This record gives sequence, structure tokens and C-alpha cells, in this order.
Amino acid sequence: MRSFLALVAGAAAGWLAPVAPASAQAAKPPAPEPAKPSPARPAAFADFIEALRPDARVRGVSDATFAAAFRGVAQPDPEILARTRRQGEFARPVWEYLVGAVSAGRIARGRARAAALSGTLDRIEARYGVPRGVLLAFWGIESDFGASGGSVPTIRALATLAAAGHRGTLFRDELLAALTILERGDIAPDRMKGSWAGAMGQVQFLPSTFLAHAVDFDGDGHRDIWGSDADSLASIAAYLKALGWNPAVSWGYEVALPDGFDLARYAGDLGEFDRRGVRRKDGGRLPQAGNASLFLPGGLGAPSFLITDNFEVIRGYNTSDSYALAVGHLADRLSGGPALAAPWPAEAGRLDKAGLEALQRGLAGQGLYAGDADGRAGPKLREAVRRYQIREGLAADGYATPALLARLTGRP
Ligand code: CA
Repeated sequence: MRSFLALVAGAAAGWLAPVAPASAQAAKPPAPEPAKPSPARPAAFADFIEALRPDARVRGVSDATFAAAFRGVAQPDPEILARTRRQGEFARPVWEYLVGAVSAGRIARGRARAAALSGTLDRIEARYGVPRGVLLAFWGIESDFGASGGSVPTIRALATLAAAGHRGTLFRDELLAALTILERGDIAPDRMKGSWAGAMGQVQFLPSTFLAHAVDFDGDGHRDIWGSDADSLASIAAYLKALGWNPAVSWGYEVALPDGFDLARYAGDLGEFDRRGVRRKDGGRLPQAGNASLFLPGGLGAPSFLITDNFEVIRGYNTSDSYALAVGHLADRLSGGPALAAPWPAEAGRLDKAGLEALQRGLAGQGLYAGDADGRAGPKLREAVRRYQIREGLAADGYATPALLARLTGRP
């Protein structure tokens, strides 16, 4: 998913699909870049669809399936094109995102669903090695446990984005994948729905992710991420297993750092962090083996986390740090874990998108950052900020603040 859409985009790329559950939306990955205003000429759209037919045939899509898929899809959806132009001006701060994504109501609903699906969850855990809290957390954030998988017809959404040339050929490829799903009979065309960016059903998989990872767990012969709880949860589990989920460790832990902790040594072995005096906030003992790194999404003093390789697995589903933290924390809460212990910082201490872009350019100018100046806070920017902080003798928390930008640019 690039699941921004809740999307998901696949593991591949990195793009996120935007969209879906309103609650999750804001933090999802950057949405697709604005589509160029495309002439919504019906003839051009019809030509685009007709031109798909040879490629669809190569994939085994019959003319009957093709006709059924596009029945009633005569024009692009202007609302979807408008959405691509509205996306992602400001990423919400992680703490704001967490309020919506890990609400008391969602925790209560998730625990009730977990109780009702206990036997199914036992079997899924046994087969895929991903704990139920994590599965329920994805399911809760993507579709509120199946209650809101999106109501936008997927074929029309993908055709609209593909015909507009959005993101190169990504959506055209996804459209062909969607046709393949219809040909296989997993879902009827009128039930294939999801977000405006093409992420489908309760798990918000893009069609290519569906083809690679969706599972028929209830054994009815259809991989149904729209109507089957068991298929939805098992599909999430199968995808996470394929992304490399390690059953031996958690996604991460909220931790307290000892006085005088050397933030410049922010990555290492869990046992080594334990020996350096890092302690879990919930009182549990840190595992003694496994890679981990410090993640301070609100800077020093705010909730601090040791994240494991599983955090990167979560980011494979959706690259947003906020999303990944919400999944991890919700998983803990659904398993009886406590709320975060440390307070979040004031809004004033945070850079907006323009500020992050300026920081990226400044760090790039000093040879510390090699990524795009896209205004996105993520692992690459954190790493660059840490290098700058270490060079300047500052506490290396990796957190981008207005003060840091002012120091870097020499402007107060
Ligand atoms: Ca099924």
C-alpha cells in the first residue's frame, strides 16, 4: 500500500496510496502528485480503455470480463481527479494522528472483534506467525475492522487515474491487475470497491498486492477482502510474513533513556541497549537479541521508542512513520498494553512541510542528505538530521525543529 490509502501500495514502491479510511488519511503517505488537468473528453477516455484490451487479453482477461468491468464506466470521475490535486499539503503531527488512529472507541471495538474471532485468529497466528494485535491494528486503521473498506468502484477509480497519466504507468498496471482479479472470479465487478486511489476492501490492498498476497482463509474458493473477516485478517498476515515479519520480536517499545545517554549511538542490538540502561516504560524486560534503533518522533523528552526490524515491515505496508507507530501502539493497546507514558511536545516545536523541504535542501547542500526535498519526515531525513546534530555537538535525537533549521540556514 503504499497504502495510502490505505493503501498500499505495494511493497514496491514506495508510494503510498492514499486514501481510505478518513481516520487514517492524513498521515498516509504522500499522495499521488496532482494529476494534470486532463481533458475529460469521453472519447479520449473510451479510447484509453479500448487500448487496454490487448494487454488485458495477454493476461488472460476475456472480452466478457472486460465488458463487465467497464459497464457503466464511460467517463473519468472528476472528484477523483480533484482529490489528486488536494492531497497532502500538510502532514499532521504524529501525536495528532495517534489521537484518531488509536482512539478509546477503536480499542474497545478491536477488543470485541478479537474476542469474537478468537478461534480464527488462533489459526492465522499459527500459520503466519504474526500476532493478532498487529493484524487487528492494521485492520482497524485501514477499515475500522471491516466497517469501512471504501465505497468507490475500483475499476473506475483506477481507470480515471490511469487515463490521466497519474504516476506514470502505475495505475494502468494496477488496472490490469484489477481486471485479472475479476477474471479469476474472486469478486464481482459491482463489489470491487475501495478508496479513490485504488486501495481495495477491508485491508486496502492495491490490486497487485492482492494478486501477490491475498488469501482465501475461510476456504470458500474466493479471496474476499471485502466481505470475509477471515480472508481479510489472513491476507494482512500473509503480506506481513512476505515482507519479513519476525515473530521473535515486537515492532518496538516505548522506552526511558538513562541520564547521560549517548544519542549518537542510536542503533544497535537490543541487548546492548539494555546494558546501556535503556528501560521499557511498561516495566517489561527488553529482549536480548535483535536489531533496534531509537526513534524519537517528537524529539528528546517526548515519547521515545526502540524500534525493531518489524517497524520497517509495517512501513512496507504504508511508508508513513505516523502510520507505523499507530499500528504498533494500537497493537499493544489491543493486547492490554498501556497508553504512552511521556507527553508530546508543543506544536510550536515542529516544522511544517515547507520547513522540512528547506531543511532537506540545507542538509543536502552540506552533503548530509541525498534524498528528495519532498517535505516528508522519514528515516532518511532523521539520519541526516542526526549526522548534522552529531557534527554540531547537539543532542542527536533526529528531530527536525525550527531551531535546527534556523541554525542550519543561519537565519533566526
Ligand atoms: Ca474466502
